[in-house]
Formats: sequence, structure tokens, C-alpha cells
Amino acid sequence: MHQVINPATEEVVAEVPSATAARADAAIERARGAFEGWRAVTPGDRARLLRRFAAVVDAHVEELAGIEVRNAGHTIGNARWEAGNVRDVLDYYAGAPERLSGRQIPVPGGLDVTFHEPLGVIVPWNFPMPIAGWGFAPALAAGNTVVLKPAELTPLTALRLSELALEAGLPAGVLTVIPGRGSVVGERFVTHPAVRKVCFTGSTDVGRRIMAGCAGRVKRVTLELGGKSANIVFADADLERAAASAPSGVFDNAGQDCCARSRILVQRSVYEKFLALLEPAVKAFRVLDPASPDAEMGPLISAAHRATVASYVDGATVAYTGSAPAGRGYWYPPTVLLAGSPADRHWREEIFGPVVSVLPFDDEPDAIRLANDTEYGLSGSLWTRDVGRAIRVARAVETGTLSVNSHSSVRYWTPFGGVKQSGLGRELGPDAPLAFTETKNVFIATD
Ligand code: NAP
Ligand code: MG
Repeated sequence: MHQVINPATEEVVAEVPSATAARADAAIERARGAFEGWRAVTPGDRARLLRRFAAVVDAHVEELAGIEVRNAGHTIGNARWEAGNVRDVLDYYAGAPERLSGRQIPVPGGLDVTFHEPLGVIVPWNFPMPIAGWGFAPALAAGNTVVLKPAELTPLTALRLSELALEAGLPAGVLTVIPGRGSVVGERFVTHPAVRKVCFTGSTDVGRRIMAGCAGRVKRVTLELGGKSANIVFADADLERAAASAPSGVFDNAGQDCCARSRILVQRSVYEKFLALLEPAVKAFRVLDPASPDAEMGPLISAAHRATVASYVDGATVAYTGSAPAGRGYWYPPTVLLAGSPADRHWREEIFGPVVSVLPFDDEPDAIRLANDTEYGLSGSLWTRDVGRAIRVARAVETGTLSVNSHSSVRYWTPFGGVKQSGLGRELGPDAPLAFTETKNVFIATD
């Protein structure tokens, strides 16, 4: 049994069984058994079932959000958005089964057509609600069955979603959630021959190990890994807006966000002015009981993680910090560090906490060079009023997603994923179901 802790109070919220390798194998076999039936469900009926699943999630948004507040310390505002995102992503990909059309390719001597065939059993894991949905919704739409391992610390919403799937009428075995340790259950996903694709969200270290393991069976992988995204502020930007929005760009979800803009690059001529504008925004960032409707940030996920985050701040130059509740819970205040150089550990490594590093740059080429001086490339922002510069820099920064004069990363209509060591493949957007199929080419001779 694994104890699930409320990170805001340190109280035990639930006890969840931790699956053995044998139970993981049994879940995979059940999913394999359900596959033939699920792929045979007509596209229209599969679409209808996914829409019904979306409607059942919609009817449980408050319940799911409440569970996430207790389990993960997400603010209630974020948690409602996350549950709503699962609904929206299901609705969006409910349109896919009826539109997964192949091509008719002109060839001599016959007719040539392609089909997008489902892979079989797919296993995404990690994150509470949205990232689970980004994996299972397009995978189910494409006719696969899915086994999902949530992170051990945050299994409760995924477990509830699997119950809601049954309630919506999805056949048993089509979506299975199996909580357990990464080294046990996750490892089986990598090694079990019936699993045809692994869709992983987590750290770069673990992602690398999974990719190496999958190589043994030439198993397909999608990897959504770590990030150290840049927020580039040019002197010609609307500095007030750039400074006012920078805290939410990095401290949202207590910085435990792969897209966190944790490196702020500021043009030297406005460096002091920007820091002065940023200070009140950081101090005003509301770190509160995540159940409070006013909360903008809650606690970190665990005591161990808080110690890791603090280790980056020890010995660094702190510009200023925000506030955090005292007492029980894994609280850490929003913290702004000044980088002495791009070699600083806090500038280079993903901290995954409410800590942001600031560094000045000289001109556009310098900004691009510093932004790209990282092994990661997931997300990022840039602030300027010069349209030409916005386009030049957006094209030059090595990253999977980037926003201009905004910190938005995730829209389910548009592709999301990383370059370099931030990942492999894309989720969301119109093409996501294709990532859960193989193209089969069929030639029919007419002579
Ligand atoms: P993690 O330690 O890599 O864990 C992620 C998942 O992998 C957990 O379910 C974990 O299981 C499992 N796992 C651990 N070791 C494994 C192994 N040897 N074999 C198979 N599975 C294994 O990541 P985390 O600390 O939970 O999450 C933080 C990281 O995720 C950050 O680097 C962040 O940037 C990244 N992230 C990326 C995205 C994105 O979309 N690119 C989104 C969110 C987060 P346990 O439950 O046993 O730990
Ligand atoms: Mg971990």
C-alpha cells in the first residue's frame, strides 16, 4: 500500500495499492484482450463513447478538482481548468475516429491506399489529469486500448477517471489505470511485448532510460521531458505587462511545470527597471491554501522535493522573495535569483520549483545565443513590440512551443512537445491520433 499525502497539510488522504509486476502484466493482458473488440467498434460509435466520457467528466469537474487540490496541492482554479481540459481533449478527439482517413495514391497497375492502423496497447503515465488525457484521448480515438500508470504521489484523479470511463460505457479493459512504482509497473510497460507504444511524461533521466529500454523491442515512444524555458524581455517590450505576467509564467503550480519560464533574459538597458517592476508582482503573488479561490500557488509536492528546490537557492544571490504560509505543508516562497553567469547551477538545471533566475543580455544575437545555451527546448516566451524581431527570434529559439507577448504553452488545438533533451514527438493538435497509429500501405492490382 502507498500512502497518498496532502502536500498542503501533510495529512494522509488515501491509501492506494501499489501494483506488483504480475498485476501489471495482468492489466496489460486484459488490455490486449480488449483491443480486438475496441478497434472493431465503428468509428461513429467510438466517437459517441468518447463524447459520453467527456460528458461524464464534465459532470464531475468539481469532484475531480477537489481530489486534485487534496492530492497534488494544485490551486482550485488550476484544478478546475485541468478537469475541464480532460473533458475538452476528449471532446476534441471524439471528432477523430470518423476523420482518420488514409490516402489514395496514384500508382501504375492498380489502386494504392493507406490505412492508419491502431497499434494495440499504449501506456502513458505520469501527471494527474491533463497529461493523462493528452495521452489516452487520442490513443483511444485511434482504436487503441490504454493502460495508464499515474505517478505514485498523485494517483487519485487518474483512478477516478478510469471509473468515469466505465460509467460512460467504455468497455472494460479499454482504459485501465494501474498505480504502482515506476521501477516495477513502469518497467513492465517497457519490457512487456504486448505493449506497442510507451507515451511518457517525466524527467529527462527516466525518459532516456525508457527510450533505451524500448529500443530492445523497437517499441514506439513519445517522450515529454524536462525544460528550462527562457522568457526573453527586449527593451522595446511593454515592460509593465512583461513584469506583471512573469510570476505566473514560472510560479504557476509552484513552478512544478515543465513549461515554467524559469530563465528570464532581460535586455541590459532595461534590466534594473524590469527587476524593479517584477518585485511587487512577485510579492503580490498569492501563495495560499490551494483550496482557497484566491490562491495563485500552493505547496510543493513533497518534503523531499522541497529540500531539492532549497538546495538551488543555498549560496545563490537572492534578489527578493514572495511569501508562503508557515506551519504544516511543503511550502516554498516564490524566489527570484540573479545569475552571475550562464554557468550558474540554478541557471542551467531544471529546479521544478518556484525559483526563477534572471540574467541580462546585450542584443538580439546575444539573447538567442543565451536562450539556446541549454540541453532543453520545450517552451518559452518573448516580449517585444517589434513584429520583425518577434518573428526572427521565435524562429531562432530552439524550442517546441513559444509564445510572443504571452506565456501560453498549451492549447489542445495545437501541437505540444519538446526538442533537444525535452522530448520526442508531439502531443495534442490535429495530428495527435496519427502518433497512435501505424501507416499501412495496400496495393491492389487491377491487371
Ligand atoms: P519522473 O521522476 O521521471 O517520474 C515520472 C514517471 O515515471 C512516474 O510515474 C515514475 O514513477 C515513473 N518512473 C520512474 N522511474 C521509472 C523507471 N525506471 N521506469 C519506468 N518508469 C519510471 O518525473 P517526475 O519527478 O514525476 O516529474 C517531473 C519531471 O517531469 C520534470 O522533469 C518535468 O519537466 C517533467 N514534465 C514534463 C512535461 C512535458 O510535457 N514535457 C510535463 C510535466 C512534467 P514513480 O511514481 O514511481 O516515481
Ligand atoms: Mg521522480
